[in-house]
Amino acid sequence: MFKALLVNKTSDPKTDSAGYRCTLAELDEAQLPLAGDVTVRVEWSTINYKDGLAITGKAPVVRSFPLVPGIDFAGTVTASDHPRWKAGDRVVLNGFGVGETHWGGLSQMARVKGDWLVALPNGLSARDAMAFGTAGYTAMLCVQALQRHWDAAGVKPGQDEVLVTGASGGVGSVAVALLAALGHTVVASTGRLDESEYLKGLGASEVIDRAALSAPGKPLQKERWIGVVDSVGSHTLANACASTRYGGAVAACGLAQGMDFPASVAPFILRGVTLYGIDSVMAPLARREAAWAQLAQGLDRKKLAAITTEVTLAEAIACGEKILAGRVRGRVVVNVNA
Ligand code: NDP
Repeated sequence: MFKALLVNKTSDPKTDSAGYRCTLAELDEAQLPLAGDVTVRVEWSTINYKDGLAITGKAPVVRSFPLVPGIDFAGTVTASDHPRWKAGDRVVLNGFGVGETHWGGLSQMARVKGDWLVALPNGLSARDAMAFGTAGYTAMLCVQALQRHWDAAGVKPGQDEVLVTGASGGVGSVAVALLAALGHTVVASTGRLDESEYLKGLGASEVIDRAALSAPGKPLQKERWIGVVDSVGSHTLANACASTRYGGAVAACGLAQGMDFPASVAPFILRGVTLYGIDSVMAPLARREAAWAQLAQGLDRKKLAAITTEVTLAEAIACGEKILAGRVRGRVVVNVNA
């Protein structure tokens, strides 16, 4: 038997007004999904924004019931029919619909497809891997997209300012720390100005109020950013593009403000700005491995610790509500065995 969070939808909404429940359950290994060829003893998982949606049911990310949520985990293989993996291998998983259509990582055990797994890089503990989690890995995909762009354009770190939006959140906090560690001048945009010291501690050189970016703005604005990591979308992304310097780039990965993109083509056709779309869920293996490898080397563990708080599996349920309310700072790791 093992413990896991379990999301269920009651068939009769009249007797259960919410109709949607996430509870801590005791499950049998025989209940793990058959559609999987590797069984993993999970050591650490996390709470990402999408996990908040799955736990609360506030958006329909869970597609089949009952389902164990958790879009990522790190742990050790206990059994494998997959040629790449054997018992004892240390692995990390993100995406591929795990925690949405396939049972996920907020659990002590998981069974997944071996093709979805990445080897835990040397020097990275399972806990630190989940301190980064999907949010940190996505931040690294954004940073690597910008790095490729800057390398091709001959942009050197520190030459101009880089903007990170949603800076106090998971993607944002890791992006601030990673970009600062690479020597960039990072401007952090946040709605939580009381977190300015935290953001400066991660390496931000300036903290700005997100209100400066979140309202409708002009199609072209004063050029400021050589690059942007945006986890917010909507007017914030439009304004970020409109104030990106000639030849600069924006990596868009999130929708915390909204899924809309009320922008004009002006920054792209008049300033040669490039907009990179970043998807972590179906990213190819080579890109995943490169991101995890750079995460393993790229950040001082003291900074990672400053970003991270820890909860138990039972506490993860309340944490799902909290992340959607914008009240989680940085990253939350879940000790599934506590
Ligand atoms: P968090 O909740 O940790 O962070 C989101 C941050 O966005 C908040 O902390 C807040 O930052 C800011 N924010 C929230 N609401 C608003 C608003 N109404 N207007 C402006 N800013 C707002 O989530 P994550 O960092 O885990 O994820 C961020 C986004 O990235 C989510 O939309 C998520 O779905 C997406 N994502 C996408 C992935 C992909 O594959 N493309 C992978 C992972 C995440 P502050 O308080 O500093 O203002």
